[in-house]
Amino acid sequence: MARRITVLPYDPAWVRSFEDIKARLLTALGSLCTSIEHVGSTAVPGLSAKPIIDIDVVIPDRSALGEVISTLGQLGYRHEGDLGIPGREAFAYDSRVPLPEHHLYVCAEDSEELGRHLAFRDYLRTHPAAVSGYSRIKTEAAGLYPEDIDGYIRHKAPFIENIYKEVIQMNDCLFCRIIKGEIPSDKVYEDELCYAFKDIAPTAPTHILVIPKKHISKLDEITPENSAVIAHIYEVIAKLAKELDLKDGFRVVTNCGESAGQSVFHIHFHLLAGRPFGWPAG
Ligand code: 5GP
Ligand code: ZN
Repeated sequence: MARRITVLPYDPAWVRSFEDIKARLLTALGSLCTSIEHVGSTAVPGLSAKPIIDIDVVIPDRSALGEVISTLGQLGYRHEGDLGIPGREAFAYDSRVPLPEHHLYVCAEDSEELGRHLAFRDYLRTHPAAVSGYSRIKTEAAGLYPEDIDGYIRHKAPFIENIYKEVIQMNDCLFCRIIKGEIPSDKVYEDELCYAFKDIAPTAPTHILVIPKKHISKLDEITPENSAVIAHIYEVIAKLAKELDLKDGFRVVTNCGESAGQSVFHIHFHLLAGRPFGWPAG
């Protein structure tokens, strides 16, 4: 009989399980690996998941693989090859492995598959709305396909693809990279939803950019699903205006589209003050 698919609400015990498995692996592998990563859904606080811990053992390059295979063999793991996914070596285990159910993979540091696992995990760890959406989809998939793993995977695939699309956009986006701290900025304010920083080429004595942390390219991509952050940004602007004592008035500008002057395609609100502003604008 097919195995029943069980999606459970997030359980902090999953992290402890990972730490136990990791400690056992580290003792054996030592400097053969560069890190041991908790990946997959059990690695994301708040996310519902099948209670199976996904683990990537990261090695410097594939030349270490032979030694890693034999060391893991002594612990009870059996190398199964890449199972059709290049850059990810899978391992099954026998009864010598006493720990909670897990999937063990070995990836080289430059493996694309490892990059995908980490990017997916890190995206979810920083996007609470995606965590609730993904939990909902998985619970729904398990209800629709309780014994059909292919149906279960098919049902949640579009959601996963959208997240990967967003991750790719974020890697290419200047303002997303500023939020991640990959590009320095003069930060004025930050909270869970938005980030504010000084414009690099100010056009007024006060020129601050306020941006949502979640990547939205431009104003015409605002929908009922993502509009709450815009109200929040206006609250933040009002708060900044008070703190910065912009009593003489200020202007908030959002350019939408190239012909309107948008040059960075991550929606942003220019907060401008400290000089007279003509009307009509621009
Ligand atoms: P837009 O023309 O898209 O409405 O506005 C983009 C704004 O981003 C411009 O005012 C520009 O000066 C600012 N900007 C572009 N690159 C950077 C950067 O690397 N750091 C900061 N702080 N501002 C930037
Ligand atoms: Zn962005």
